[in-house]
Amino acid sequence: MKNRIKEIIEDAYNGKLLMEQEIRELLEIDLCSEEFFSLLYMGRKVSEEVCAGRAEIHGQVGVNSGPCHCDCAFCSFGASNKIFNKQRVESLEFIMKQSLDLEQSGANAIYLMATARFNFQQYLEIGKHVRRELRTDVPLIANISDFTYEEAVSLRNAGFTGIYHAARMGEGMVTRIELSTRLVTFEAAGKAGLSLGTCVEPLGPEHNVEEIIEKIFIAREAKPVYSGAARRITIPGSSLSDNGMVSETRMSHILAVVRLATPREVPGNCTHEPNVIGAVAGANLLWAEAGSNPRDIVSNTENNRGFDVGKCREILVDAGWQVLDGPSKFFKAIIEK
Ligand code: SF4
Repeated sequence: MKNRIKEIIEDAYNGKLLMEQEIRELLEIDLCSEEFFSLLYMGRKVSEEVCAGRAEIHGQVGVNSGPCHCDCAFCSFGASNKIFNKQRVESLEFIMKQSLDLEQSGANAIYLMATARFNFQQYLEIGKHVRRELRTDVPLIANISDFTYEEAVSLRNAGFTGIYHAARMGEGMVTRIELSTRLVTFEAAGKAGLSLGTCVEPLGPEHNVEEIIEKIFIAREAKPVYSGAARRITIPGSSLSDNGMVSETRMSHILAVVRLATPREVPGNCTHEPNVIGAVAGANLLWAEAGSNPRDIVSNTENNRGFDVGKCREILVDAGWQVLDGPSKFFKAIIEK
């Protein structure tokens, strides 16, 4: 194995914060080379150590579907993609049932996802109801559009512990959201005491190493409780569909680099959609999904692309992980801001 790569991997394992050039060299390792498997081994080792060997499964419920004016090219709700032509909101009873089902089947955190169009007050009301009905201390997490500090405080008061938010690949170019807007939301959430989960996503084959490095830096500087890497799922007929998808093997490579480039105080490393090689490479967080889903073309993803908690557990066990029982430990992590 090349000494230089060995040195970078070992330095990262020993707590050195990798810089741009080192991350670039790791991202440029040949797939399935000796260096590649060393990288996966060390990514996995760090992931295991920072979560005491217990992976987590977080469950997301999509509360609405329909065309969204932010028009992200990779999202099935993007208005130009013409997948969903009508606005639809699931009933409170149904959202509640899906959240409770996920909790009961062992999800370690429950997320409520809404499109950027969705009314904030209505979202808060749904959140309060779900929080009240959840039977355990499982954290409730918001996955919504950008928001202000005042809105972040309202989310906290409604019972949300944290948010999922990301500066996506191609932000401002394949989306109608400025990168700076996403960063303002990170800031607002942090100030209001909401923990952040994030990820380098949605990765496509056209993304170069420079943009991947940029997004790894943005993610780690946001001081999240988890980072990770996820690929774009092709939305048929979208402007990005001709680019195809990144292989799971390449994603496992990027995921391991994200782990090694992210400080150890960040315990989680997620990937999506769930897959065994990602979990082997150190993904200690996988996703179960119900309701609407920006990667799916039907309103109830549990009948199509979405995996349930049992399937995620199977994948983690296949990859040699134990799965945490009870509320997420990632969302209890104290991250120095
Ligand atoms: S990713 Fe979010 S903001 Fe972008 S189109 Fe989809 S729902 Fe709207």
